Amino acid sequence: MRAIGDMLNDAAKAAAAKNGQDFSAESFEKMKKQVFADPDVRAFLTAHQDQLTKESVDASFASLYEYCRQKDSHDKVISGYLPQLFMEGPLIGIRYQASQDKQRRDKEAAAKRRIELIDLPEKLRRVKLADLDMADDRKQALFEVGAFLQAYQSNPHAKGLYLSGDFGVGKTYILAGLANRVAEMGGRVIFLHMPTFIAGLSSHFGDNSLQTEIQRLAVCDVLILDDIGAETLSPWSRDDVLGVILQARMDNDLPTFFSSNFDMKTLESHFSATKNADDPVKAARLMQRVRYLAKEVVVYGNNRRLP
Ligand code: ADP
Ligand code: MG
Repeated sequence: MRAIGDMLNDAAKAAAAKNGQDFSAESFEKMKKQVFADPDVRAFLTAHQDQLTKESVDASFASLYEYCRQKDSHDKVISGYLPQLFMEGPLIGIRYQASQDKQRRDKEAAAKRRIELIDLPEKLRRVKLADLDMADDRKQALFEVGAFLQAYQSNPHAKGLYLSGDFGVGKTYILAGLANRVAEMGGRVIFLHMPTFIAGLSSHFGDNSLQTEIQRLAVCDVLILDDIGAETLSPWSRDDVLGVILQARMDNDLPTFFSSNFDMKTLESHFSATKNADDPVKAARLMQRVRYLAKEVVVYGNNRRLP
């Protein structure tokens, strides 16, 4: 971090030259007085008095001066960083540390990077559970989300949820709030819109990218499948894509969430609605995986998309 110190010294010299100042003995004495009157400097010197001598303090004056200039300055050399004094052997050094505000912003940015949205709007990254209103009809869903988060803190294999309910009651929003919280806790989340994802599968034909994609969805810390049941499934997408992903998540007990306009029973009929004779068996098998992975919770309420 010496580079910053050099920059500051240059800046100080340039500023002094611009103001027609020279570093006369008199102005140096004045500067010294100000620096040693500073309460933070005094606290540091007191805390380290056993390690310091008059000579070492004098030899460290540049650090102390830079510290005083920077700590209250509004145009910091690097915004978001605060100067800090520390013992560097017998001398006093200065280093720059991210301010709490900057640390918080960095943390938020890192959390956002841990969520991958597939075919869903970016605005979902800004949904916070704390901002969701706790209308009575959604209390149970929010309670279950809270219970999951609490369990997830100590158990990365906690069971997920299946939020069913009418269009517009807030299922996707609740899951977005959950995703953001999991990401803040350090988990990697993939949140995908099932109908668009399934419709786009054909674009993977003829290359290996589908296997890679299935693998990613199979192993991410938390997977959220939004609007399951609204997609048009073929026996292939049901058994070889969705079935494979859910089986792998079940084998590894990885938290998996769903939202659907259908309850689980109706979803099973949807899964058996492709055109093969063995569909009911396959649908039942798929539903077994969904039931293993997630607990069904009905979200009630009005359609919030209407004015
Ligand atoms: P669903 O997934 O159940 O169809 P959404 O989660 O998409 O419903 O919610 C529908 C709309 O209602 C959202 O676009 C959002 O604008 C609004 N909304 C959802 N939940 C809340 C909430 N708790 N507070 C305010 N607005 C909300
Ligand atoms: Mg939705």
